[in-house]
Amino acid sequence: MKKYSAPILMLAIFETVAVTLWLTKDNIFYLFNFSYIGFSIALGMFLYIRKNDHARRIVQLLVGLYMLIYLGLICGENMQIEGFWYYLFTGTFEAATIHYAVAKIFGPLIFGRGWCGYACWTAMVLDFLPYKVPDKTSVRSPEKSLERSTEKTPAQLRKKIGWIRYAVFALSLVFVAALFLAHVGNIEKIMFWAFIIGNVLYYAVGIALAFAYKDNRAFCKYICPITVFLKPMSRFAVMRVKCDEEKCVSCGRCKQVCPMDVDVTDNSRSRANGTECILCMECVKNCPKGAL
Ligand code: SF4
Ligand code: SF4
Ligand code: SF4
Repeated sequence: MKKYSAPILMLAIFETVAVTLWLTKDNIFYLFNFSYIGFSIALGMFLYIRKNDHARRIVQLLVGLYMLIYLGLICGENMQIEGFWYYLFTGTFEAATIHYAVAKIFGPLIFGRGWCGYACWTAMVLDFLPYKVPDKTSVRSPEKSLERSTEKTPAQLRKKIGWIRYAVFALSLVFVAALFLAHVGNIEKIMFWAFIIGNVLYYAVGIALAFAYKDNRAFCKYICPITVFLKPMSRFAVMRVKCDEEKCVSCGRCKQVCPMDVDVTDNSRSRANGTECILCMECVKNCPKGAL
């Protein structure tokens, strides 16, 4: 039973949030919403402990589809970045703002970028694409770098186009601010269509980048505006993968399988791409020495 303490704790945390919000906001939706998400995550952790290879993907589909289809399309709640600004400007502390507070702003102090690994509906689709691990070899092998001299490693791409995420973040804020300043009517409806069009664009750009850079998570690394919140907060995450240096034999396998190019053998908070870790556990599963 002790080995299941993590999923039980996770379920308890979500139930506490569910009941607290239900009672304080007098809205039973919160009880249903956070209980469902908590149950899905706890189920994934339980399956992971049982060594089910699809544990993460199951959670991702359970939570991602629920948010995209039920909350987004059926309930008309815009939970993209522009929806967050919209509800913030109206002073509404409801579903989208609570979602951001829990999953993307304060939650990452505890579970890092667990949102990106287990719940995001954009990555839910991108993770079906064929490039689960980015090609990190293009400049390491001399033959390859000659053949593919125009290609860039993820590190070079981060430097070159990583700024786009800040531009998208700023644009979303300007877009919503402009709607308010211009006193545009029926902003709620505009937000609904912004959610649909935004998602279509995210999927199209995400899929195109995945194929262009042979990296399913290229969109997450270079474009996604949510990382402007996620990265600084997850730097201080309580839950993070650590390396037992006594057991590690420096084989490099963990870095080969990491979809986010994290140097997980470095335990410092400033490790390379440390704020990109999505807690997918691929490194842990593949470490031959059980050092992670
Ligand atoms: S970086 Fe953005 S698109 Fe990628 S998983 Fe996280 S929230 Fe989703
Ligand atoms: S896979 Fe394990 S043993 Fe190999 S470098 Fe990573 S932590 Fe060390
Ligand atoms: S492979 Fe390990 S270091 Fe890389 S994102 Fe997944 S959990 Fe984080």
